[in-house]
Amino acid sequence: MAKDLIIQEGDPVLRQRSLPVAKKDLGSPALAKIIKKMHAALKPEKYGVAIAAPQVGVPLRIFVVAGRVYKEEGEGQDTKKEIPPNRVYINPEITRASRKKIDESEGCLSVRSIYGVVSRHEKVTLKYITEQGQARTENASGLLGHIFQHEVDHLNGILFIDKARDLHESA
Ligand SMILES: [Zn+2]
Repeated sequence: MAKDLIIQEGDPVLRQRSLPVAKKDLGSPALAKIIKKMHAALKPEKYGVAIAAPQVGVPLRIFVVAGRVYKEEGEGQDTKKEIPPNRVYINPEITRASRKKIDESEGCLSVRSIYGVVSRHEKVTLKYITEQGQARTENASGLLGHIFQHEVDHLNGILFIDKARDLHESA
């Protein structure tokens, strides 16, 4: 089996609190290289929807969401049927969360073959910086809302298995 591009549970990098990306590093070649590595690690993952920087061994506050998530969310449904590009979120911060929570089955590229049900806020507001250094705010519910919460957890050293119930193995 090929070496896993994605850091697996048990590695301490997944358990530390990642550091914010410094302003001076926005747009730098070093940051571009890290983000490129994240896109590359996510690409072969047929069922992977997102990846956080610690999952490629970099303890910085960055995550990437696969473009097809936005397609599934209903965006980009034009006649060309093109998959939208992945989106990069730097220094993300959940600024608002609905009181209402919903249960969703989750897995993680760093905890392969394990699934479980996690209760998360139905809606969240995420403040972040784009790769180009622009400040943005995005509201999300459904799958994307869950992804935002799962990925921010990664940046705080939390894995979904810490919160999930009905954990089970599945091929
Ligand atoms: Zn994960």
